[in-house]
Amino acid sequence: MRPAAIEAMTDQLARTGNASSLHTSGRLARRVVEESRETIAGAIGCRPSEVVFTSGGTESDNLAVQGTYAARRDVDPRRVRLLVSSVEHHAVLDCVDFLAAHEGAKVTWLEGDADGRVAPETVRRALSEDPESGALVSVMWANNEVGTIQDIRGIAAVAHDLGVPMFTDAVQAVGHIPVDIAASGVDLASLSAHKLGGPIGVGALVVKRNHTLVPLSHGGGQERQVRSGTLDVPAIRAFAVAVEESVRELAEESTRLTGLRDRLIEGALGLGLDIAVGGPWTPGVASDRLPGNAHLLVPGCDGDSLLYLLDAAGIECSTGSACQAGVPQPSHVLLAMGVPEEQARGALRLTLGRTSTTEDVDAVLAALPGAVERARRASGRSW
Ligand code: PLP
Repeated sequence: MRPAAIEAMTDQLARTGNASSLHTSGRLARRVVEESRETIAGAIGCRPSEVVFTSGGTESDNLAVQGTYAARRDVDPRRVRLLVSSVEHHAVLDCVDFLAAHEGAKVTWLEGDADGRVAPETVRRALSEDPESGALVSVMWANNEVGTIQDIRGIAAVAHDLGVPMFTDAVQAVGHIPVDIAASGVDLASLSAHKLGGPIGVGALVVKRNHTLVPLSHGGGQERQVRSGTLDVPAIRAFAVAVEESVRELAEESTRLTGLRDRLIEGALGLGLDIAVGGPWTPGVASDRLPGNAHLLVPGCDGDSLLYLLDAAGIECSTGSACQAGVPQPSHVLLAMGVPEEQARGALRLTLGRTSTTEDVDAVLAALPGAVERARRASGRSW
């Protein structure tokens, strides 16, 4: 967490009241919530009333997809089609699968290019087939595995052209690349505090004023009646501080991180280990790929082995693979991008952030050859 967010949270923990109570402590807590809402709205270009606080990205994604699906079907039973990019986070994918299995949803997967980027034309083609059945278009702003940044504005324009609302999972985008909700045209966007230096367990769903959602949780009717539950005032305050700070520092930090990212990718490609980069990458450019994301494809070994070997060297990273019955499965994102299964098995995602330094990058580059050699020996595969 950002030190300023820790300070804000700690400060609130000592004097929290229920923000829905009418007594003095309650009203003070309410003021903190509403000021936080204004701070977040100001930083991401929406109205304060459009910010609905949640427990994080997963809940926001579920509320956006399920809440919209139910609301659209209530108004018109033909609206059962979800148009969803095939590189979405599991919080969206699994929610869509659930609606297909239990609530009669029809799913059109929006295929992207070799970097996972969905063309607005792809959305137009898919929607034009039967616009009356469209319930929601869902394309994430930036991908959490390979860092690909989507043309959200272009896709939202197409969706609206054909009368369908647009949701974007902006969890990886806010605080890392410029995000202006109003200018993007989206109806819904999800945010998560712990992706930008705030606490774990709090986030928001931006819901445009004229967009109707059916709530997933019922109770006290907090947050425009769509997200019942007593508000976590300290977490919300810290979330707002983290959003404000990360957006304020974005321009400078983005340049610094892009430089580190390029050093890491160039260094890895130059190790003579046949490593390739996953996702789009243009040195010095942060508009097609998240500035802090380096994704490496290491042939001849399992990403999970590399993860443990690097962890032992003090380097914490991830693979993007999911486990099914104890067997690591290649990432759905890489498979959707057309990466062969064998190559996708050796995926490694290294992300850089606020505290990352040149020395950190050089430590990774120093540790990689030994780790790759051992992981390859363990896998016994050739490439
Ligand atoms: N969406 C994306 C793109 C993410 O990267 C994540 C977290 O990894 C989530 C959603 C889930 O967010 P949370 O951990 O706040 O539930």
